[in-house]
Amino acid sequence: MLAIDLTGKHALVAGVADDGGFGFAIAKALVLAGAKVSVATWPPALGIFKMMLERGKLDASLALPGGEKMAFAKIYPLDAEFDRLEDVPAELKDNRRYRDAGDFTIGGLAAAIEADGGVDIVVHSLANGSEVKKPLLETSRRGYLSAVSASAYSMVSMARHLGPVMRRNGAFVSLSYIAAERAVPGYGGGMSSAKAALESDTRLLAYEVGRAWGHRVNCISAGPYASRAASAIGFIDQMIDYARRNAPLPEPITAEEVASTAAFLCSPLASGITGTTVYVDKGYHAMGIAVDREGAAPAVAPAAAGGGGAS
Ligand code: NAD
Repeated sequence: MLAIDLTGKHALVAGVADDGGFGFAIAKALVLAGAKVSVATWPPALGIFKMMLERGKLDASLALPGGEKMAFAKIYPLDAEFDRLEDVPAELKDNRRYRDAGDFTIGGLAAAIEADGGVDIVVHSLANGSEVKKPLLETSRRGYLSAVSASAYSMVSMARHLGPVMRRNGAFVSLSYIAAERAVPGYGGGMSSAKAALESDTRLLAYEVGRAWGHRVNCISAGPYASRAASAIGFIDQMIDYARRNAPLPEPITAEEVASTAAFLCSPLASGITGTTVYVDKGYHAMGIAVDREGAAPAVAPAAAGGGGAS
């Protein structure tokens, strides 16, 4: 049987702070494939995440098919807007959510991972845009640059800092969205620009990281999903409904579908794939027109499609 087998691998999933997003689902899929999984969590969300874990609030989501409970090898603090502690403004360092977190920068994360024996798989499942609700035209320079910093440069920096502490033939995966290449009004604040950069960087990083260390770099363009981050934007339910009505497969995506694709891309089964953005969106990206309107050409009815084979 051809199976995704990550036995003996250590995976880091950056961007997990609850059980409601892609990062958590990917962590679980990697565990199910046999990997040891650590996560990296944004300091403002770290305290509550650890408390939820300790109090058993996530037990149902952590349950594995055999009845066991999945456990993270390590939970690292990470603010992906910073590469070294010297760059962190004093007021943030003194903030109560940051001051006891240690070195929460990407450089600090890489040093901690190295001290813990290295890693084979790195998943970048994080994004932030303080002005995401603003149209691009109304986005400030500061808001735009911080969206690109947190959501795209963070991937470049992770490749640069973690690449050398990954065992050879490692794999990076990040998460993008169709707004990288098509206009999605409402996904503003420079977030669409950040996703475009993330997808473009996937190609050049694949080359540079491949030649430097033999690692692969891929990206998943996921359909809309009501995670905590997406729900905060304010119109995720309409986006899910619109995608469902207009995609070739008229149903919402699940986090597990994104997660199993990530696990595949990180596995030796995908050893020939790098520099690619894979769509996990029920085919929505392939459509050129909306079909949920009056007068739209009807889909082919099952009867007309026939039972198969020419007669
Ligand atoms: P999520 O809320 O589960 O994940 C986002 C994470 O980013 C959170 O854990 C948050 O704490 C973390 N984060 C924010 N700023 C950070 C920083 N500066 N440093 C470190 N961590 C930070 O939501 P999600 O929707 O699962 O998002 C995961 C990825 O999937 C993101 O890249 C997102 O853009 C992408 N994506 C989401 C959708 C969707 O509809 N949900 C669609 C396509 C792509």
